[in-house]
Amino acid sequence: MQPERMVIGGSRVDAADGRTLEVRDPADDRVIALVPDGGAEATRAAIDAASDALAGWRRLTARSRAELLRRLASLLRRDRDAIAELMTDEQGKPLAEARGEVEYSASFLDVAAEAGPQFAGEIVPSSTPDRRILVMPEPLGVAAIITPWNFPLAMIARKIAPALAVGCTVVVKPDERTPLCGLRVGELALEAGIPPGVVNVLTGRPQPIGAAILDDPRVRAISFTGSTEVGRMLMAGASRHLARVSLELGGHAPLLVFADADLARAADAAASCKLRNAGQTCICANRILVEAPVAEEFLALLEARIRLHQVGRGRDAGTTIGPLIDDAALEKVERHVADALAKGSRLRLGGARVERPGLARRFFAPTLLDGLDRSMRIWQEETFGPVAAVGRFRDEAEAIAMANDSPYGLAAYFFTRDASRLMRVAEALECGIVGANDALPSTAEAPFGGVKQSGFGREGGRWGLEEFASLKYVSWRI
Ligand code: NAD
Repeated sequence: MQPERMVIGGSRVDAADGRTLEVRDPADDRVIALVPDGGAEATRAAIDAASDALAGWRRLTARSRAELLRRLASLLRRDRDAIAELMTDEQGKPLAEARGEVEYSASFLDVAAEAGPQFAGEIVPSSTPDRRILVMPEPLGVAAIITPWNFPLAMIARKIAPALAVGCTVVVKPDERTPLCGLRVGELALEAGIPPGVVNVLTGRPQPIGAAILDDPRVRAISFTGSTEVGRMLMAGASRHLARVSLELGGHAPLLVFADADLARAADAAASCKLRNAGQTCICANRILVEAPVAEEFLALLEARIRLHQVGRGRDAGTTIGPLIDDAALEKVERHVADALAKGSRLRLGGARVERPGLARRFFAPTLLDGLDRSMRIWQEETFGPVAAVGRFRDEAEAIAMANDSPYGLAAYFFTRDASRLMRVAEALECGIVGANDALPSTAEAPFGGVKQSGFGREGGRWGLEEFASLKYVSWRI
């Protein structure tokens, strides 16, 4: 098998020592590609390339950069089906979801292309008549982009689009389990006409790459999506050279269903929010909480919807739930279910692995549990699997207290038809993203991000650009 190559300074590059890592299809453990294990040497080369390209890239007009981002978006759309197949092979998600992710990724490039030319400075009225104050946004410089496996393309697009629009150059490090979509981004950026060195893509084990990024004073921004643990480590490491850090970390979303809600709509939303990407999204509902008098009715509606889902290989027609990413992920889901059952939860559906000849033992049946309470691990930690766990609340005050009972604060959802309650609850929830009668809130024009241990920094719209810019002001005596 011919190994893939990294994209550094416009060239396709092997690891200096020729070492490679295997990329496996999580559905059957088949080796689908070899990628370079780049290490510190490739990381330094990528930062060199990004530094060299910086002056030319930031000198381009914002409109010229926007035009190149649009071209990259159109190439992603041109290659949508091929990239989706690659994504399904490396990550496992159903093809329809993978195609959706390619479209979603392109939309971040479109939005950044619109926002870039509008990203203006200001002239501030001065307190003295002989002075003018000009405030000018400037690109921070070289940005390191470190992304997770659950959205192998979208997490990259969401970060590089605003970084490039502002005039930063980037060194991208995708997750070692899903590097192939990232490499395509590097190739397509060159095909789009983005100058060599502006987009560099590294592959390999994370520790040496991460250490070389943190060691290098030329890296002025680190944008990370992944676990809170690694985010904390990167933030501590970034303090050495005081690189700007933006962290999109784990979530633990509550989904509240009030008795006055449209229950069928809430059940549709809860099922899709929970089961998308086999439950491996950071904004998945992990605690579904229902007002007690309608809980039975809601559970029946949710159960009927979950029964429609089909577990299988992401490439197979009809599959809506693919494999979990690895054995550790499956074992965590099993532990969460066993713990909930041991503590009195009632199993309504699923609850076990799905075994199929020829497939890895990494498929978990969509599961519905009733009787969730705060003693259970599902309440405390992200499950990251297709497990819908339902608990009950008595009134609005209790619902809000339960929803906020988490160190995380990324997304929260609620369903109600009461307009006053809608605003009260939206304001009371401790999170960065509220889905009000909406369980699919992610969209490129809105500022995605969290509070508390879900991190800080925003991605999307003009807010995404702000993460990669610093402000300079000119005090001008006349
Ligand atoms: P992870 O933190 O292990 O990995 C994320 C990235 O960090 C990968 O690229 C990995 O290679 C890299 N990494 C790991 N150790 C590193 C090191 N020492 N130095 C540099 N890089 C290192 O997380 P994961 O298990 O891959 O992802 C799942 C987590 O990500 C979940 O907690 C999920 O909620 C979160 N997530 C958050 C968002 C969001 O937008 N907030 C989106 C997707 C996933």
